[in-house]
Amino acid sequence: MKAQADELAAKIVDAVLEERCASEEGMRRYRPLLEERAHRIVARLVIDPGEESESNDDPLHQIHALFKLADATVKDELGSHRYPKPACPDSGGCSMCCTHMRIVLSAQEACAIAKELLGLTEPEKAEIARRLPSLGKSGPGSQCGLLDEQGLCTLYAARPINCRTHRSCSITACEDRVRLGRNAGEEVVFAYPFDDLVRKSFHHAVQPGGTPHFLEMNTFLSNVLHDKESLAAWASGQIPAEHGA
Ligand code: SF4
Ligand code: SF4
Repeated sequence: MKAQADELAAKIVDAVLEERCASEEGMRRYRPLLEERAHRIVARLVIDPGEESESNDDPLHQIHALFKLADATVKDELGSHRYPKPACPDSGGCSMCCTHMRIVLSAQEACAIAKELLGLTEPEKAEIARRLPSLGKSGPGSQCGLLDEQGLCTLYAARPINCRTHRSCSITACEDRVRLGRNAGEEVVFAYPFDDLVRKSFHHAVQPGGTPHFLEMNTFLSNVLHDKESLAAWASGQIPAEHGA
């Protein structure tokens, strides 16, 4: 078990460094910060996630149990180090990141979103469908289709892991990132050296051993909101083969 955790933690650290660090120097400085935390996070989310994450009759039970565990992990990581307090308001009110981040989700997370969508009223679903065509894909210059006119997430309880782990200790850095582009406000990316570890561990837990297959949020919403059968299938946990079932 320990060897398995060590191997996976090392793999995840390498993957994060490759994605996030442009230079050898950056990798050298950031690696110890990640390595210190990776084993603990992998152990918690992948190796021994507890009984709650074991499957039961509800096909979406595991994903919600893992969401809960990931939320608790983020909270504990923030509390266990002398990090600067996140700039993100505790009670909401800042949604800048929802307006410029590319939002991707695993097929399992898409099932959770579909289940919540299915529970919305027809006018609520129509409202999301109405805003999607002018948005295109989420990302710089666009926004997530679930962000409503009041700047709130329509399906907050089922928001993907990327949204759950995204924290910044500098709102100025977030503003720079929105205004100037992806590589601006670098401290946002490296503000808390656990967000990518939690994300990657989470994805490994939901799709063990595989390369996660991701869907883009607005494309997924658009597809299922125009196809009731597809929405019902996703909501019941049926993942089409082309999405990594
Ligand atoms: S990450 Fe930045 S933009 Fe997103 S809620 Fe926090 S402070 Fe606001
Ligand atoms: S899913 Fe919700 S929290 Fe995530 S980007 Fe969309 S609106 Fe924001």
